[in-house]
Amino acid sequence: MKIICIGRNYIKHAKEFNSEVPTEPVIFLKPESSLLRKNHPFFYPEFSKNIHYETELVYKINKVGKHIQKQFAHTYYNEIGLGIDLTARDIQNKLKEKGLPWELSKAFDYSAPLSNFVSKEKFSKNDGVKFLLKINGETRQHGNSKNMIFPIDDLIVYISKFFTLKIGDLIFTGTPEGVGPVKIGDNLQVFLEDEKMLDFKIL
Ligand code: MG
Repeated sequence: MKIICIGRNYIKHAKEFNSEVPTEPVIFLKPESSLLRKNHPFFYPEFSKNIHYETELVYKINKVGKHIQKQFAHTYYNEIGLGIDLTARDIQNKLKEKGLPWELSKAFDYSAPLSNFVSKEKFSKNDGVKFLLKINGETRQHGNSKNMIFPIDDLIVYISKFFTLKIGDLIFTGTPEGVGPVKIGDNLQVFLEDEKMLDFKIL
């Protein structure tokens, strides 16, 4: 199982880091050991002083595919969840400066808190999928799948040119604006529409 993550997939988030709005998806991977499930707490690692939250819609792949065509892309997933792409921003900035890969800042143990999944049939096609993050009860991020630069079907077409998609693979689809640091003691809650999907602490 692999976790494929998209960077800079919302215009306002790309702009908050003065990054260019991409013309092709920005792709990186996290390993299975990055998953943090069942609302387990996240223990702040000693190697970073600036861990950021990035709340993201996650799509779960339900069949094997390669070179998937756009008109069939929607048949390769039927469940949606929420995840947080925890990022050691201090390390990522150093790696970016040197033009090095991002893995140490993005793929470390438990850097991917993940919710359970719900059927995509729950969501109307026209309104998009809405989600939000609260920290200590205060809303910090809200997003809507309609605002993605590359919607999920386009991502599946693009990713499957390079990687065979397999059952259970996860696609983290990028974060909207409003990212920021977490600190020890914080309580993070994420909501998919009105349903609470994650509720855990930073320790
Ligand atoms: Mg991200």
